Amino acid sequence: MAKYDVAIIGSGPGGYVAAIRAGELGLKTIVVEKDPFLGGTCLHVGCIPTKVLLHHAEVYDHFKNGAELGFEVIGLKINWANILARKDKIVKKHAKGIEFLFKKNKVEWVQGWGRYEGPGRVSVEKDGKTTQLEASNILLVSGSEARALPGIEPDHKTILTNRSILELPEIPKTLIVVGAGAVGVEFASIYNSFGAQVTILEALPRVVPVEDEEISAELDKAFRKKNIGIFTQAMVNSVKKDAKGVTVTFRDKEGKSQTLQAEKLLLAVGRKPMTDNCGLEKSKAQVERGAVHVGPYMETAEKGLYAIGDIVFGLPLLAHAAMMEGIAAVTHIAGKPAPAIVKERIPNATYCEPQIGSIGLTEKQARDAGHAVKTGKFPFVGNSKATILGSHGGFIKVVSDEKYGEVLGIHIIGPLATEILAEAAAVLHLEGTIDDMMSMMRAHPTVWEGMGDAFASVRGLQINV
Ligand SMILES: Cc1cc2nc3c(=O)[nH]c(=O)nc-3n(C[C@H](O)[C@H](O)[C@H](O)COP(=O)(O)OP(=O)(O)OC[C@H]3O[C@@H](n4cnc5c(N)ncnc54)[C@H](O)[C@@H]3O)c2cc1C
Repeated sequence: MAKYDVAIIGSGPGGYVAAIRAGELGLKTIVVEKDPFLGGTCLHVGCIPTKVLLHHAEVYDHFKNGAELGFEVIGLKINWANILARKDKIVKKHAKGIEFLFKKNKVEWVQGWGRYEGPGRVSVEKDGKTTQLEASNILLVSGSEARALPGIEPDHKTILTNRSILELPEIPKTLIVVGAGAVGVEFASIYNSFGAQVTILEALPRVVPVEDEEISAELDKAFRKKNIGIFTQAMVNSVKKDAKGVTVTFRDKEGKSQTLQAEKLLLAVGRKPMTDNCGLEKSKAQVERGAVHVGPYMETAEKGLYAIGDIVFGLPLLAHAAMMEGIAAVTHIAGKPAPAIVKERIPNATYCEPQIGSIGLTEKQARDAGHAVKTGKFPFVGNSKATILGSHGGFIKVVSDEKYGEVLGIHIIGPLATEILAEAAAVLHLEGTIDDMMSMMRAHPTVWEGMGDAFASVRGLQINV
């Protein structure tokens, strides 16, 4: 029987990053992946394909607004098949890239269904045959899948999930998106840019409900301006397929029943961990609604068994969180100082137009936690690079603790928000204060320099507004 230091079940961002780092640290490592390719949800049906489509949507928006930039654009057409082909090419290239990195770092991988079989043992099932592996440490990184609403089953032709919407042969004329979290608003943004009439139905009182309230309000305003329909506090009662597509009945904010019709409907109502049939019942690991509780360094209550990524209880379902969790686990296994995973320092990036980047506490969370809160806000209308880009909607909001000026949260909506989030993450990681950040120089003209004005605005010392 083959023996390893580390066996990893799942090759998504949590699994492949952990494997590469384990290889770099000299640990004999194997990855078990059920699919015939590496990369998981993130690479094949999540982060990467959606960001390809969002980029294409942005380029298309620039062409549509050509006149504003001084261009005469004649005969502009979307070649949807070519866009999908480019998306697939990018995904394949990166899946091959992971295979290359595995070879480079002497990481083995095997296709099959991986299952925990007790301390130090993993079984791998493929085509009815089962083989066994021995590993001193086992990482379960099996990811998540789209949730459905009770009684509304996706058929992947009319009622879609994040997977099937990527395969649509044509851009629908009308689309209903159920759910206004990151996945919902990104697809709403993509199809709105490509000309579909999009309507969002969200059960909670606001879009992007995990974000700061002012960010939700700004996105709501920007989406409505682009003619995206939004119903919040909307409870979907039924979805019926018919010759034209789907008819949705829902109860609106006022409690009235409303009906909407569209060619397609996307269910974007959250994700659920995929831990069934992974052998967790053979361990002492604590599982709650499918999600696994972990202690320091992502170890479960079963010694030598770690849980990483979307299956972890209480941590956000994000690729970069999964990556760092994997790094923490294998670094700990290698006996080296491992990074701590601090929930409040995990950045959130939502790539709709306008983009959202946020980290740390919202204003409400900071107040609820008992901080004496002082906020500052810089609107991009005062930023020259944002004007050059033709995108000066939105703002940067800083939430700080009044007493010491510690930065508690940063919330950005507007141009390049997901990129300038880099500075926000660094400040929180290094526990910086408003005063530290006010004295840092930033290049001019950049969207990034808006951060300087945002920190200064906490002290009423902003320059550009
Ligand atoms: C539409 C969409 C867009 C997203 N965009 C972003 C984004 O822009 N940024 C971001 O940070 N996050 C994004 N996410 C979330 C991100 O994709 C996930 O957080 C991330 O993929 C989680 O990584 P993971 O390694 O835990 O699991 P996954 O990526 O789901 O990988 C799990 C892997 O395990 C395999 N597997 C499962 N069970 C077994 C088994 N028993 N045996 C063998 N193999 C198994 C699966 O085949 C899969 O390859 C997005 C998600 C969606 C759906």
